[in-house]
Amino acid sequence: MDRATQLARGQLPALERATVHPFEEGTPGPVYYQRIAHPVGLKAERLLGELEGGDALLFPSGAGATTALILAMLEPGATVAVADGGYWGTVALLRGELGRWGLEVVTFDQTGSPPNADLVWLEPCSNPMLTFPDLDAAIADAHAAGARVVVDNTVLSPLLLRPLEHGADFVLHSATKILAGHHDALLGVVGCARPEDAARLAAFRTSSGIVAAPDPVWLMLRGLKTLALRVERQSATALDLAGRLAAHPAVECVRYPGLGDAVARRYVQAFGPLLSFDVAGAERAAHVERALRLIENATSLGGVASTLEARARWEGDRVPPGLLRLSVGLEDVEDLWADLAQALETTG
Ligand code: PLP
Repeated sequence: MDRATQLARGQLPALERATVHPFEEGTPGPVYYQRIAHPVGLKAERLLGELEGGDALLFPSGAGATTALILAMLEPGATVAVADGGYWGTVALLRGELGRWGLEVVTFDQTGSPPNADLVWLEPCSNPMLTFPDLDAAIADAHAAGARVVVDNTVLSPLLLRPLEHGADFVLHSATKILAGHHDALLGVVGCARPEDAARLAAFRTSSGIVAAPDPVWLMLRGLKTLALRVERQSATALDLAGRLAAHPAVECVRYPGLGDAVARRYVQAFGPLLSFDVAGAERAAHVERALRLIENATSLGGVASTLEARARWEGDRVPPGLLRLSVGLEDVEDLWADLAQALETTG
C-alpha cells in the first residue's frame, strides 16, 4: 500500500495517560509503568519503525534523543564528527554539556569524506546552511574507518529520505518539526538499523527516564496522517519561493538543494520546507523580520505556518550576519511571496 494511504487511514489509539497498569495474574504486562512503555508510544514506534525501515524509539525532544543516543552508545572520551552548518544546538550540546563528560567534538564539511571519529553525524539539508552529503560515500567511508553513522533526518522526513537504507546505523529526528507538523508537540525519535542497538537505547531510556509522554506522541500520530500532503506541498512551495528569491535584487544568495544540487537530486525527489537566504547584513535582516505581516518571525521549522528568523542571533559568526532562515508552511504561495516581496522592497 502507498505510504500516504497507510498514514492517512491508520487508526488513532485512545489517548491513554495512565502511568500505571495492573499486573496480569501477578505478572507485569508490557505497559505496567509509563517510564518503561505506554500504549500510545508503542503504537507510534511501530509506525515510525515501518516508515524508517528499522526500530524506532521516542524521546521527549530532538535534543533529548541526541543526549540519549550519545550517552547510551558511546564511551567517555569518544569523538563525534559533526557536519558543519547543521543544527547549532547539536554542536552546543555535544561540546558544552556532554563535553563536560569527556566527549570530543570535531566538525567537518559533509560534502566531503568524514574525519576519523567514533560517531559521524550527518544532516542532509543541514539547518541552516542546506548542504547535502553524498550519503552512500560518506557512510561507506565512515564505516571503513570504524565509525558508526547517525543521520539527522529532521528536515526531510522518512517520506523523502530513508537513511537506514543507505547504510546509516541510526536516524534521528526532532519530531517537533515536520513529523508532528503543527508547532504543538515537542518530541524526538531515534531509528536504529540493528535490534540490539534499539534494545540498548531502550534500556538506557528506561533507566534515565528520558521518556516521551503520551500527549505529544498522540498529537504527532494525528499529524502523521497529513505528513505526505504537507511534505509535498511545503516542498513545492519552498522550491517556488527559492527560485523567486534568487532573482530578487535585495537577495545576495539562496540556499536550497532544489536549486541545482546534483548530489541531493540523486537521493531525493523533493527537498523539504527549509531554505535560507542572505540580505546585505544584520540590520537589513532585522528589518525583514519586523516588516513581515504573514510569515511569523519565529524560530523552529517544519510546521504548517511559515516561520522566518535571522540565525545570527543564536549562532553568532557561525552564519553570515544577513542570513535569514525560512521554513515554508501551507499558506498559498502567492500570499507568501507577496509578504516576502514587500518586506524585501522596504529593506532600502
Ligand atoms: N535537529 C535539528 C535539525 C533541529 O532543527 C532541531 C531543533 O531545531 C533539533 C535537532 C533539536 O530538536 P528539539 O528542538 O525537538 O529538541
